Amino acid sequence: MTNNRIKFVLDEERIPRAWYNIVADLPSPPPPPLHPGTMQALGPDDLAPLFPMALIAQEVSAEREIEIPEPVRDAYRLFRPSPLFRARRLEKALDTPAHIYYKYEGLSPAGSHKPNTAIPQAFYNAEAGVKRLATETGAGQWGTALAIAGALFGLEVKVYMVRASYDQKPYRRMLMETYGASVVPSPSPTTNYGRAVLAVTPDSPGSLGMAISEAVEDAATRDDTKYALGSVLNHVLLHQTVIGQEAILQMEMAGEEPDVVIGCVGGGSNFAGLAFPFVGRMLRGEGSYRVIAVEPEATPSLTRGVFAYDFGDTGHMTPLVKMYTLGSEFIPEPIHAGGLRYHGMAPLVSHLKDLGQIEARAVHQNPTFAAGVQFARTEGILPAPESTHAIRVAVDEALRAKEEGVARVILFNLSGHGHFDLTAYERYLSGALEDFEYPAERVAHALAALPVVG
Ligand SMILES: *Cc1c(COP(=O)(O)O)cnc(C)c1O
Repeated sequence: MTNNRIKFVLDEERIPRAWYNIVADLPSPPPPPLHPGTMQALGPDDLAPLFPMALIAQEVSAEREIEIPEPVRDAYRLFRPSPLFRARRLEKALDTPAHIYYKYEGLSPAGSHKPNTAIPQAFYNAEAGVKRLATETGAGQWGTALAIAGALFGLEVKVYMVRASYDQKPYRRMLMETYGASVVPSPSPTTNYGRAVLAVTPDSPGSLGMAISEAVEDAATRDDTKYALGSVLNHVLLHQTVIGQEAILQMEMAGEEPDVVIGCVGGGSNFAGLAFPFVGRMLRGEGSYRVIAVEPEATPSLTRGVFAYDFGDTGHMTPLVKMYTLGSEFIPEPIHAGGLRYHGMAPLVSHLKDLGQIEARAVHQNPTFAAGVQFARTEGILPAPESTHAIRVAVDEALRAKEEGVARVILFNLSGHGHFDLTAYERYLSGALEDFEYPAERVAHALAALPVVG
């Protein structure tokens, strides 16, 4: 193989026919979610106001394979299978013996991995007769993905967009509106929770935790509406496993097995999507990999948080889940990887970290942008600020391979492109980007308010 860039593409028929459910292969099940009022284990009926039964069934399923409905596979054909690239030019620039591969999710209409779950969520809701979906969005990627999915399956979509992003990222809002969604800044005067926040802090910049509270309230108080979440939950991670299943076949085409598998983590879904099919092999004794989740130093839930029951939102309306958390009252610094600014972590990712099956690493934003710029200048793709976290650690692993003189095979998930994040790149290039120290005091403060679970 002498060409510089090799693209491994599967034919459409090899889009997976089932999602992979890692719960089937776990040595112990993850701790159950609890009702926010009673603190007792949650039953399927407790979730019925928020989600259609098909998704609730997936949320609690222990079956290894869950069939992908044909209308979902058909919508996946708009952008799947996604390509796997070998980063020959980056390898050359690093002068490393390592082989670096990346799975590129930025070719979906939303520019990220998020349609992989937005599409089935819209499908199952439409099938259950739901007319309208309410959701939150931070930087705008999830809102965009759900707006597209809503358009494909004939659902109205209402997006509560974190105020700071709403003001700073007008193009994301315009894109969502073009796809037919209606978007309001959160906190908004349209929910009880939003009004309560605005009464105390009229100029609140909002947070993902607050926007979740508003979207949950919207769904819980309207008969025609359900709620959709873009990460964290078991069914969301399940839908994302199309990424890793395709990657396994593509690595076979390349004639290689990865030694290291890397993904960035906000709520954990793109990481899980790539990694879980590999972790499953490990759990079944069919392979051995180092699996690394990469998070920002500004929101270090896996590396500095505690493994405890906590709320998913600031208004304490969601179920409690056991996860690595910085506390639901923690509001992260305004780093540019907006999709990674979340206080918690998916329970399944948290559980695997607790079991020692995966590693976690935290990185500052300046070094991630340095890696992102090097990647853009060698591979030609402008990565999303979130994805640059994975690139940073892939580059570090490749440099370590060079020191050790080993031809290590590295695979990472390039979760999206950064075409809407040029302001962040401009700030990096002009030296104006800040690195935020680990906010020890604010985390301690937020952790002191963790719910007490008997
Ligand atoms: C939303 C987003 C993330 C973070 O979310 P996860 O659920 O952790 O994957 C990462 N990358 C991109 C491009 C995103 O849009």
